[in-house]
Amino acid sequence: MKFGTYMFEAKKVPGFDFDLFRVKPEVGRRMPPQPDMYSNIAIFGDNVTARNHPDWISQSALGPAWRTNDNFNVRWDILCATQPEHRAEQLDYMEDVARKSPGIWLNSIHFADHGHCICPRCKALHEKSGLSWYEWRRKEITEYMAATSERVRDRAKSQFVIGVLPDPVTNYERFGVNFDDLAPLTDEFLVVMFSKNYATPWYWEMLTRNFKKLFKDVKLNIALYVIGPGDDPRETPTASELLTVSVRMARAGVDGLLYLTDKAYQMVEFQKQMIAQKDTRERLKSYGGKAGQEVLDLVTSWEKIVE
Ligand SMILES: [Zn+2]
Repeated sequence: MKFGTYMFEAKKVPGFDFDLFRVKPEVGRRMPPQPDMYSNIAIFGDNVTARNHPDWISQSALGPAWRTNDNFNVRWDILCATQPEHRAEQLDYMEDVARKSPGIWLNSIHFADHGHCICPRCKALHEKSGLSWYEWRRKEITEYMAATSERVRDRAKSQFVIGVLPDPVTNYERFGVNFDDLAPLTDEFLVVMFSKNYATPWYWEMLTRNFKKLFKDVKLNIALYVIGPGDDPRETPTASELLTVSVRMARAGVDGLLYLTDKAYQMVEFQKQMIAQKDTRERLKSYGGKAGQEVLDLVTSWEKIVE
């Protein structure tokens, strides 16, 4: 297993195998890529571009994909996935970032959600394709990811990781994502499983097993939520929950775990809190043999480097 940081700050934290920096998160802000950190880019979730080009927002019978549309689980503004100018600009941007950092890890690669997008361009493209609605959406996403993979892997010679949302069964119907299409295009998969608590580890372990089965030989990375920008620490997952869910995902076969914080100092704080979980660490020793032990060994290794 590998363990990574996942942060909004461009600062490596000792004690992890790798660091993933949010170069362009869904708020749309762009930061300079780092030569020693992987770059995380959200493509169609992009508040800045949506503000500059409101006519590019994804459309549906239940309204546009503004973050204020409670018909959908959208936490940011989501652009139409076929908007040609945004697609072209993002391809150039991703290739450029790939040349300046060791790899690209993507989020928000897909249609906003079920029923999107019914803008005039998407309607015309669907009609012209002769395909069913779902198959046309799948073709759009797969072809764009193939073009992205060509830019990042083949041209920039960089690592390429596609991120998907934590829905193993209806990703196709909701987002146009087909895992078998994407598997040959990506080096590994990332599934973001953010939650403000992990009090029900049984479900997270099940999702891990589901994605391991679906991704077959392609490695599964899962991102866990520690603390995000502006969060009240009292409303974030406890260290005991994070330690337990990590061990249970490990025994279900996850290949990599990433931990999200806003700042680097919060990652060090998280390491200290994990070290302090003496009873939980002891209890989890009987959970899942070698794989679970790798998580516990990671925490033990932090004792030497974190004050
Ligand atoms: Zn559209």
